[in-house]
Amino acid sequence: MTIDKEKFIQEVKRSLSQSFDKELSEASNYQLYFAISKAVLGSIWHHWENTREAYKTKDIKEAYYLSAEFLMGRAMSNNLVNLGIENEIKEVLDSLGLDYNLIEDTEPDAGLGNGGLGRLAACFLDSLSTLDLPATGYGIRYKYGMFKQIIQDGYQIEKPDAWLEHDNPWSIKRPDYSVTVKFGGDIVAERDEEGRINYKRVNTEDVLAIPYDMPIIGYGTDTINNLRLWEAQSPDGFDLQLFNNEQYLKAVEKANSAEDISRVLYPNDMGPLGKTLRLKQQYFFVSASLHDIIRKYKVKMGDDFSRFPELVAIQLNDTHPVVAIPELMRILLDNEGMSWTEAWGLTTKTFAYTNHTILAEALEKWPIDIFQNLLPRIYQIIEEINRRFLEFVRGIYPGDWEKQSRMAIIHNGMIKMAWLAITGSHSVNGVAALHTEILKHEALKDWYDLFPEKFNNKTNGVTQRRWLLKSNPELADFITSKIGNKWIADLSELEKLKKFADNKTDLKKIEKIKNNNKEALAKYIKEHNGIEVNTDSIFDVQIKRLHEYKRQLLNILHILYLYRKIKEDPSVEMVPRTFIFGAKAASGYRMAKQIIKLINDVADLVNNDSIVSGKIKVVFIENYRVSVAEKLFPASDISEQISTAGKEASGTGNMKFMMNGALTLGTLDGANIEIVEEAGEENAFIFGLTSEEISRIRTEHSYRPHEILAADNELKMILNMLIDGTFGSYDIYREIYDSLVYGIEGNKPDTYFVLKDFRSYVEAQARASEAYKDRDKWNRMAFMNIASSGKFSSDRTIKEYASEIWDIKPRK
Ligand SMILES: *Cc1c(COP(=O)(O)O)cnc(C)c1O
Repeated sequence: MTIDKEKFIQEVKRSLSQSFDKELSEASNYQLYFAISKAVLGSIWHHWENTREAYKTKDIKEAYYLSAEFLMGRAMSNNLVNLGIENEIKEVLDSLGLDYNLIEDTEPDAGLGNGGLGRLAACFLDSLSTLDLPATGYGIRYKYGMFKQIIQDGYQIEKPDAWLEHDNPWSIKRPDYSVTVKFGGDIVAERDEEGRINYKRVNTEDVLAIPYDMPIIGYGTDTINNLRLWEAQSPDGFDLQLFNNEQYLKAVEKANSAEDISRVLYPNDMGPLGKTLRLKQQYFFVSASLHDIIRKYKVKMGDDFSRFPELVAIQLNDTHPVVAIPELMRILLDNEGMSWTEAWGLTTKTFAYTNHTILAEALEKWPIDIFQNLLPRIYQIIEEINRRFLEFVRGIYPGDWEKQSRMAIIHNGMIKMAWLAITGSHSVNGVAALHTEILKHEALKDWYDLFPEKFNNKTNGVTQRRWLLKSNPELADFITSKIGNKWIADLSELEKLKKFADNKTDLKKIEKIKNNNKEALAKYIKEHNGIEVNTDSIFDVQIKRLHEYKRQLLNILHILYLYRKIKEDPSVEMVPRTFIFGAKAASGYRMAKQIIKLINDVADLVNNDSIVSGKIKVVFIENYRVSVAEKLFPASDISEQISTAGKEASGTGNMKFMMNGALTLGTLDGANIEIVEEAGEENAFIFGLTSEEISRIRTEHSYRPHEILAADNELKMILNMLIDGTFGSYDIYREIYDSLVYGIEGNKPDTYFVLKDFRSYVEAQARASEAYKDRDKWNRMAFMNIASSGKFSSDRTIKEYASEIWDIKPRK
């Protein structure tokens, strides 16, 4: 696309005047961001409309991606990049004396997700549009997204993220497509003339779902798909009767309780929740989305549902939207008068389920009483699904009562959402090869034995448009100068770089680009942390949610190991390092929050010790989110991917690092395995137990952390720093210490094998330092990572979903 500069300026001016009563010269950077966004949206409006119209054709099948999270980040710059007009707009603004970067920085991130799962959904939408695939995303328009993290005295403080405080120029309210969602109430059964029992819901508490649409602009195409997010509202505003009686607060109470549903994203990344409001959120967006999907289907097919699975594919992103399965059954049975067998046939052909974790605590289950009160008819339907399913299981495994109770969808007073998902879907996929194997042979073995044909793997990916083209423009330009620009829509093209891997000038160029990105990050760190970092040091980066299984603690213990080494012998030779962390902890996750405090305390200890700080520095980046991630990946030398093997389903941060030429220092876990397969083991630093080894140790109960400590005095001394007053109080890190050495809350000690993997990690880190001394060699390793990263585009992942699960085709 090209823009008509004069027309563009006129549009911006008009928008400034309309929305803010301001002229160009008086507008704030935020107002400029708003007006530019509106002008761009206006110029592509017809493409959005045309795409929607095209999907109304009877022979086009559409995929619907249902996700409780979409971690979109910023829209303006990404859209300009995908439209290919970012540079032009920059020039126009420049000619007007305006600074594009300052304008860009005023856009709040759309932080409607916790981490990897929500960001995956965002990358998928980008790929779907770029590949011209007919698809819609459905989710919740949380008024408050992921909390803003502030670090105070080293502790995480959470502040609300009011990203909608000012109007959002990229979302369009569509009140005409509002849907009523019903909660609670009673069920009445009525027999009709034909003797059929019909179920009706009465005395329900109704909530209005109002859709807001966001355009998903693909790269190099006119296809603009839709992300439809639902906002909750009371259907009758406030109660006028009460209002007239001057009971103002009571009058708005009802409206408030409806609006609560889309008020806030639960900032919990994995782990149990079980809150009624969360279930309300799930049913709210699922029910509204299904009604929307069916409304669109009826435009094509009227009341003939026989072709439903031929025209509709619905992907369930984890178990959060799984209540869609009984909800579709309810609509087909109660509203469309279908028989159970017919309805179930259509339902299972329509749904597909993605599993994102095998952590037991993260498998969603709901207490029957909560569920039944909130969704009585849906509960009845789940009971019937369970009854029929158990009958089927009994037929196949007669007398195997243990298997039947293990697989029951309703068991011990709980409804197991993953079991419901597998039963009601035709496809169950894991998100990396190892993860899918673990699902098939361990975590979901019963289910794989019963339905082997449902199981398949779809290794995650990330969009190279945001994570390379937009965030690392210098590297993107370099790549294009070597192999042309086809890689932007086909990342496998990067393979062609490999013939330059021994070209000294090219290697020097990528070193220079990395250095420029490190300079930019150093500036950011100086501004935000007040810390000077050495850009000749290795930037060693671990950025991801704070979780014990991700083992930020292992990283910290290695830093303490280096600290002690330098203190013992200040003249020790060492390649300087800057350790960079970014992580949010779930607000109720005590251990995770203590680890954040520990990282900040270690940073203070290291950075303020003049003997140590010339060699190592530690930086904690506050409020890690998509927009800062875009500054961090391009500036990284080492990608820390050090989860306990078998625990990280895939990871996607690992892929963003690789594309940007950082070397993986990691365990053989999740997609790390495939990354090393592609890049070559010689271009990564692999350490630690494998998932098979960990499995064996677990079944044999043979791990004894105290034996490790007895044999490793140095590690013992390092651990002692947690409780010897090094960090002020003796007690502050007692819980972390105890969890490693004794086990807390009924758990075994060191359940994540931190101590067991420590020496292997230290040794891998030493290899990395050694490798960095030979810069030419290091640059070649980085180059090989970039050139081998083609597999990890979400375009590849989405093509696999499209052909192997959804059976959808590009619209042209
Ligand atoms: C990619 C990404 C993640 C996922 O990181 P992992 O290392 O795969 O856990 C989380 N948060 C943000 C902001 C991201 O961009």
